[in-house]
Amino acid sequence: MATIATLTAAGVLGAFLWTFAEYLLHRFAMHALHGKGIMSREHLEHHVTSAWNFDVNHILSWTGMLLVGFGGLAPLAAWASSWSVGIAVAVGWAAGYFHYEIRHALAHRRGPTSRYTGWVAQNHFHHHFGHPMANHGVSVPWWDLVFGTSERPSKVRVPRRLALPWMLGDDGELLPAHADRYVLVGSVAPTERTAQLDRARAFASLAPVD
Ligand SMILES: [Zn+2]
Ligand SMILES: [Zn+2]
Repeated sequence: MATIATLTAAGVLGAFLWTFAEYLLHRFAMHALHGKGIMSREHLEHHVTSAWNFDVNHILSWTGMLLVGFGGLAPLAAWASSWSVGIAVAVGWAAGYFHYEIRHALAHRRGPTSRYTGWVAQNHFHHHFGHPMANHGVSVPWWDLVFGTSERPSKVRVPRRLALPWMLGDDGELLPAHADRYVLVGSVAPTERTAQLDRARAFASLAPVD
């Protein structure tokens, strides 16, 4: 029977493996494929408007990632060690994955409430509005640092038409609390031209125009 220390280490390994998958999937399976395949298409649709809305595809992703963990990683680790270690790796993987899912959704839907969530938001919205081929890690920074895709501008330029609701006050201007990290650019009214451009540029993994 594996010790608590071994099971904890196996769980941490599973979560760490997830962070690598988060980077690889986001960079290659989503952005580099330019809309080929459901994973890429759904993600680039998310880039068109930068809104996070729940839909049925999330249930597909959740099922897929649980299958990878409990149907793939667990038996693999069980073969190398024991079933208790295998399950611990899968639990760590699933915890890492759902942590990422929750952090990503909250970054879009709610203003940051801590140093960490402030970093998640700024890092991720530079990915959305500044350079979609940078900052592929959403929940952790280290793989972008390892692969040289980390960017940290002092302020993220946010096109007004794509600004997140939590960034704005009732007057539609940037809340002073966010002024040290974000700056609004462009005009507020989306036009047919900007809508077409936003779609084309999202699917080319290019930043939206001002
Ligand atoms: Zn996003
Ligand atoms: Zn992306």
